[in-house]
Amino acid sequence: MNIILFGPPGAGKGTQADKIVKDFNLYKVSTGDLLREEIKNNTDLGNKIKSTVDKGLLVSDNIINDLILNILSDKKFYNRLIFDGYPRNLEQAKNLHSYIKKYKQKISCVLNLNVDKESIIKRIVGRQTCANCGLIFNEYFKPASRKNHSCDPKFLNKRSDDNEETIMNRFETYLNKTLPILDFYKGQDLLHHINGMGQIDQIFKEICGIIASLET
Ligand code: ADP
Repeated sequence: MNIILFGPPGAGKGTQADKIVKDFNLYKVSTGDLLREEIKNNTDLGNKIKSTVDKGLLVSDNIINDLILNILSDKKFYNRLIFDGYPRNLEQAKNLHSYIKKYKQKISCVLNLNVDKESIIKRIVGRQTCANCGLIFNEYFKPASRKNHSCDPKFLNKRSDDNEETIMNRFETYLNKTLPILDFYKGQDLLHHINGMGQIDQIFKEICGIIASLET
């Protein structure tokens, strides 16, 4: 089973993907995380990617397609992927479709997390990620504490693109480039809509129900 988690920036895709990975024994593919790894390595390519990401624009399809091909061609991940933040435009969606066919796999569902614009901005501005364990927190809604986080607070980082100006651009990019993909998946009867405004565990429960219904 391969799953696509779809939704605007800050919809909670990463949080839900981490929970799904644990319960359903899948592997997460976050193109955003993969790009941030490349940026960390400080290569020429990484610097080029950083300037695109910080503008809130999409990184070129060639770079993304190569990343995805590496993963889909690896037998270890066969039919066990959850895509978080990918595909991000129609080209990428069509490309994924052809890779999936080529490697004889299948997309089982597309889970669309709906969240309104105001909440997105609050979620993103407050977002903190632990550089040590990868857990995601929010200064306003889910602050890191000794109860929910065992790493040193010094590991809590803010992403350079999580500022109010870049968020507006990321949201525009989402509306113009990413949202139109939904029609592509609607046509394939893969789409499930989820209210992403509730509690994390409530949303996860809904997602589990959908995934369970796919398996039977
Ligand atoms: P969010 O979902 O909060 O925007 P991501 O980590 O998914 O966060 O993405 C951060 C940035 O990385 C995006 O704004 C974009 O610049 C780049 N990016 C991530 N995934 C893709 C992709 N599939 N195609 C092009 N650019 C991408």
